[in-house]
Amino acid sequence: MTILQIPSPARAPAMKEAAPAFLPGLDREGLAAAIAPHLANPKQARMRAGQIFRWIYHAGVQDFSAMTNIARELRETLASHFSLQRPQIVSRQVASDGVRKWLLRSAEGIEFETVFIPDVARYGALCVSSQVGCTLTCSFCHTGTQKLVRNLSTAEILGQIMVARDDLDDWGSPAEARAITNVVFMGMGEPLYNLDHVAEAIDILADGEGISIGRRRVTVSTAGVAPRIPELGTRTNAMLAISLHATRDDLRDDLVPLNRKYPIAELLESIRAYPGLSNARRVTFEYVMLRGVNDSLAEARALVKLLAGIPAKINLIPFNPWPGAPFLCSDRAQIEAFADIVNRAGYAAPIRKPRGRDILAACGQLRSESVKARASARRAMPAERPSSPPGP
Ligand code: SF4
Repeated sequence: MTILQIPSPARAPAMKEAAPAFLPGLDREGLAAAIAPHLANPKQARMRAGQIFRWIYHAGVQDFSAMTNIARELRETLASHFSLQRPQIVSRQVASDGVRKWLLRSAEGIEFETVFIPDVARYGALCVSSQVGCTLTCSFCHTGTQKLVRNLSTAEILGQIMVARDDLDDWGSPAEARAITNVVFMGMGEPLYNLDHVAEAIDILADGEGISIGRRRVTVSTAGVAPRIPELGTRTNAMLAISLHATRDDLRDDLVPLNRKYPIAELLESIRAYPGLSNARRVTFEYVMLRGVNDSLAEARALVKLLAGIPAKINLIPFNPWPGAPFLCSDRAQIEAFADIVNRAGYAAPIRKPRGRDILAACGQLRSESVKARASARRAMPAERPSSPPGP
């Protein structure tokens, strides 16, 4: 694994030579615009961009020399101007149940986590982050204790999938044999506060010549940014998941403080407006089971009433503890009794098996040590990793 080279401030005067621009993160149009000035015949930019797109996202190459349908001279020119680097792996942990967690670093102070969960969905799901930290302070979530550092770029979002595919030796295999068959935006951050980059990443993910994971295998989970929910559907056609966790506004105000801005009624209205909802395209509601807080049988009945008329599935998530967490997980018997009421009302209500708890990789446990740099420190730091190369 190559390491993203970040010149230290002490070496800043040597930076007059432009650093190579990053190609991963760009779509075909962006690639064409980036490479055109370096082609003998700029009219070939679209064709070359299509080739490079396939090499980067479908084959996962990290070296221009592997792009064998491009002439050697051009490959060398591209290599002198552009980089194919991934984010650096800071640490990699494997849990006793096979869950893998990577802490990745893309720039000075920009660290984020990605988790692979084998044996879920078709074969395995990758849980990706959309922000470093989060603004939303959900009280049951470890990430919520880390202030927002910044949104991740399209390249940084895709970089998580590419690093995981490298590590799982998952490039080039036929779709039915891949380790990663599904991607869920349920890692660090609120994806709808970074919708432009999330939507760009999903376009490349879903592209048959790109990473090639269909939109119905991509799920975006939101804490409930109601006005952006229909837009998410229109722009990405991804599957929708909602972090619900409570059936009353007073309780949800505490668990998911965003509820004070977009209360439950407004949230449900926006969910009903999600394009393409049907029994074959149901919304997943996530409900974390907190002992004595939201797990009564009366709440199970209220949940059923609340979701009436919405094609839905309810994921019951036994609370995953983290250091200093103010909650306990509900008893198994209570979770089963809760699930029984929801099931009998006709909703699928699987109880999620805790995965990766021993490496703090389970739902709600992610957190990095990145902190927002003070403005003075940011000015002294090299520019953050660009999501697109500088214009010609
Ligand atoms: S649950 Fe999601 S939205 Fe809420 S604090 Fe955690 S990362 Fe942020």
